[in-house]
Amino acid sequence: IAAHYLERIERHDGDLNTLISVCAERARAQAEAVDAGTAADGPLAGLPLIHKDIFCTEGVKTSCGSRMLDNFIAPYDATAVARLAAAGAVTLGKANMDEFAMGSSNETSYYGPVRNPWNRDYVPGGSSGGSAAAVAAGLAPAATGTDTGGSIRQPAALCGVTGIKPTYGRVSRYGMIAFASSLDQGGCFARSAEDCAHVLGAMAGFDARDSTCVERDVPDYAAALDGNIRGLRIGLPKQYFADGLEAGSRAAIDKAIAELEGLGAEPVEIELPHTDLAVSTYYVIAPAEASSNLARYDGVRYGHRCADPVDLDDLYSRSRAEGFGREVQRRIMVGAYVLSAGYYDAYYVKAQQTRRLIADDFTRAFADVDLIAGPVTQAPAFRLGEKLDDPVSMYLNDVYTLPASLAGLPGMSVPAGFVEGLPVGLQLLAPWFEEGRLLNAAHAFQ
Ligand code: GLN
Repeated sequence: IAAHYLERIERHDGDLNTLISVCAERARAQAEAVDAGTAADGPLAGLPLIHKDIFCTEGVKTSCGSRMLDNFIAPYDATAVARLAAAGAVTLGKANMDEFAMGSSNETSYYGPVRNPWNRDYVPGGSSGGSAAAVAAGLAPAATGTDTGGSIRQPAALCGVTGIKPTYGRVSRYGMIAFASSLDQGGCFARSAEDCAHVLGAMAGFDARDSTCVERDVPDYAAALDGNIRGLRIGLPKQYFADGLEAGSRAAIDKAIAELEGLGAEPVEIELPHTDLAVSTYYVIAPAEASSNLARYDGVRYGHRCADPVDLDDLYSRSRAEGFGREVQRRIMVGAYVLSAGYYDAYYVKAQQTRRLIADDFTRAFADVDLIAGPVTQAPAFRLGEKLDDPVSMYLNDVYTLPASLAGLPGMSVPAGFVEGLPVGLQLLAPWFEEGRLLNAAHAFQ
């Protein structure tokens, strides 16, 4: 199976550019060990998959899509990587991504953009665009990703695959390169909810090396799938169906909801009144945390170092100026600004307060419904280059995914149809730690 996927990667990845590194020899050796019965005989024995290049993989380049880490060979495995390997999974390679997971189109990668397999003139979404596109193109049956503000759900939607972002704290962040630590969460992509259930089940669970990882049993997601959603109350947030939702996408989502109703679910209109605060809240908090997390890349300890520094300041500033791309530099500047004395209360503290309002909206909604459904994005994939010079229009991509991220809730994107040959995703959200409910609803729908 691994050989089959390696061959497909060699044949088809050229212009899709979904991978930064291919680990052919390592994958063959891992797969042979499975065949020989000398490898871990776990539930995923022999399953080939791709890791987003944000997950440290021992002995393999882990670039995070950045020139800054182009020379970084990870000295250890991220917990998610180690757990998947212990379950028997075979690593085919490392997926392309937006630089430090900052982006919604995969165009900020140092390694060039990923192309959408459904139409190569279009973006695959981001930041886990390489993972989503690789699964869509059949270069791997599954892939890992991370979602800070939508980076699993949005590319899953734009590439027409299934993706799940679990509850914040469900998957360990140990060895997952930090972007915005209070939001970052690992998850996965596959071609079905059932496959996602198997992969997530192997990745999730408590890890003492991540202080925000929650100590709570992981149910057997796959075994619990029965496809029965009779009587499930599904909230439809009015704010997610307002102006801005493109007509074709709306039609696909309406049809998906009618199908859920046909399966016995009960749609109910709900309110998430602070939805319109999510973009401004997120784009204060995420850059603030990023500016702090990315301070470690100083040209001294690891990563890119400029040539011939004249003194320490020159070393810092030139290494960072050369190592980070424009979007990362923009986020660091915004983050440093909102955290600075005099602006901290006006921006950062305010954003923490509005974050709470957004989370409280969900708590109120989930008192009455079991799941929430709506669109993932306002429209299907856009053209490569279309939003590159307009960061605000790029950020507005995230209107429907950011609120759940700010609240730490689990979410999925499930393929729901096409508009002019480009996929549309249905977003499903559940209360904290109800990944099983999400996966089962997606499974019933599929
Ligand atoms: N598009 C959002 C951003 O650029 C979300 C990215 C993510 O989830 N990693 O920050």
